[in-house]
Amino acid sequence: MTIETFRIAVLPGDGIGHEVMAPTLALLDAACARAGGLTLSHETLPAGAVCWRDTGAALPAATMAAARAADAILLAAMGDPAIRYPDGTEIAPQLDLRFDLGLYAGVRPVKPIPGVRIPLADPRAREMDFVVLRESTEGLFASRGRGTVENDARASDTMVITRAVSERLFDFAFALARSRRDKGGRNLVTCVDKANVFTSFAFFRRVFDERAAAHPDVRAAHAYVDAMALDFVRRPWELDVLPTENMFGDILSDLGAGLMGGLGYAPSADIGDEHAVFQPCHGSAPDIAGRGLANPTAMILSGAMMLEWLGERHGSARAARAGGLLRAAVDAAFAPGQLVTAEHGGAAGTAAVATAVGEALAAA
Ligand code: ATP
Repeated sequence: MTIETFRIAVLPGDGIGHEVMAPTLALLDAACARAGGLTLSHETLPAGAVCWRDTGAALPAATMAAARAADAILLAAMGDPAIRYPDGTEIAPQLDLRFDLGLYAGVRPVKPIPGVRIPLADPRAREMDFVVLRESTEGLFASRGRGTVENDARASDTMVITRAVSERLFDFAFALARSRRDKGGRNLVTCVDKANVFTSFAFFRRVFDERAAAHPDVRAAHAYVDAMALDFVRRPWELDVLPTENMFGDILSDLGAGLMGGLGYAPSADIGDEHAVFQPCHGSAPDIAGRGLANPTAMILSGAMMLEWLGERHGSARAARAGGLLRAAVDAAFAPGQLVTAEHGGAAGTAAVATAVGEALAAA
């Protein structure tokens, strides 16, 4: 049997990044072994706030080159409020990666894990399964590092929405809804904007309508971001694919993470036409770093998303199977309801969760 190998650039970053990355790499290797005929060759690379403090570069050129050359990039968390640029902003090279590699589609799935406590009491909430699709290269974040303060009296940042990126985002959204439809999805794409107030969002919505017309087999709808925030709490089980601007997506994806139990459970992928980064929605959590309390589930599920994406991109049934096995192992570990993470006041820290998922994988 020939062995398939994918090259993975591994960026643990800062804080709990290292703590959640180490067990995830072991589980990814175990899932590949279980799928058979598949290996990952991972190269760990420096980047982040500590890297900037120690070397003067937050994302060294060699790291960037290795990331570009890899089949996929696995990133944990970067940043540290105690280490800042001279202007007071935090070191966030994960944002540079998204811009430099053109990772316009920020995929943030919101789907509760069986057995994990969620905040909504309505039983229908357990059925929620939707995706915040955060545009990740422009919007208000286009102004990052370019905002101005005039005479200490007036500050401004400028939002940028381009036709080229919006079209790609919406086409990605319709393709995603189509692939989810095949697995029981609602076949619905809802553009989330503020088109009633801002010219840029009216343009965003107009481009959405144009692309919707090109995908007549998928239902299309609109929602204002404020109404959507309410719907996240009121009827999240009716949502499907939600393309939105960068800043709105940043906020809504944290709300989505809360709906599925907290940041420690929420995976994500930032996907472009040539590259993709997989990382949990959470940051480096300096408040719990070094204590073994970090929940590695979001990182593990981001790894599963990576395997599934590799499977689709390279037509690798083994990678798709390994991703499915890892995802199923997470579900099996939590389903009995005994594994309660420290995030939820339970006893299960990083090692306990990783061990439970590893055992479920071995038993699969
Ligand atoms: P960033 O702006 O870098 O995304 P953030 O402001 O969203 O970071 P986080 O570092 O994600 O902040 O932490 C927010 C809160 O969530 C903290 O209280 C942190 O301890 C908690 N948290 C984040 N990730 C985890 C995790 N994997 N397990 C447990 N708790 C977590």
